Amino acid sequence: MAYSYDPQNIFAKILRGEIPNNTVMETEHTLAFKDIAPQAPDHVLVIPKGPYVCYDHFALEASDAEIVDYTRTIGEICKMLGVQPGEGGNGYRLISNAGDDGVQEVPHLHVHILGGRVLGRMLQ
Ligand code: 5GP
Repeated sequence: MAYSYDPQNIFAKILRGEIPNNTVMETEHTLAFKDIAPQAPDHVLVIPKGPYVCYDHFALEASDAEIVDYTRTIGEICKMLGVQPGEGGNGYRLISNAGDDGVQEVPHLHVHILGGRVLGRMLQ
């Protein structure tokens, strides 16, 4: 299956600097910024700089360097937020919506990092 990336999506515009964002961390392959409509005290969106639609697209087609950078940056942001449960924080949740059933609004891979409050059970 060929993935079709829309370069006019809002996160592509953020990456090109056409729309402002509240950056919390930037690396060679990754950008992280605050969600415009936060659902928790900590709500950060982490995106790869490359044109990947969703998680499986990225996991199957990105380079090892991009994948390591992205994965490690998510960990670094958890550390920066102080939410790591093993390090005295109170925990967090990662969410990545994909496609229609996942109700993905922006078709550029993003992981939501949510924390700062008890998030409630999602799966029973
Ligand atoms: P999705 O439903 O695709 O997983 O989530 C998209 C997220 O992007 C939503 O939480 C929404 O609030 C956020 N968002 C949409 N437009 C913008 C924007 O222009 N700037 C920022 N920082 N976040 C946005």
